[in-house]
Amino acid sequence: MSDTDRKNPGDEDVPGAKQTGENVCPTCDGSGSVGQKPCPDCGGSGRVTVIVGDA
Ligand SMILES: [Zn+2]
Repeated sequence: MSDTDRKNPGDEDVPGAKQTGENVCPTCDGSGSVGQKPCPDCGGSGRVTVIVGDA
């Protein structure tokens, strides 16, 4: 892996990878937090990188 790997637990692939797109994090609904804590899946960004496949 390269040093540009910034994958969060909720990401299906690293940002910028082929056939990926940003989506609203389903865990926190885009709020970036779950309860009182930062969302563990998106790292608090509210967005996750998902593999979208062939367009
Ligand atoms: Zn989240």
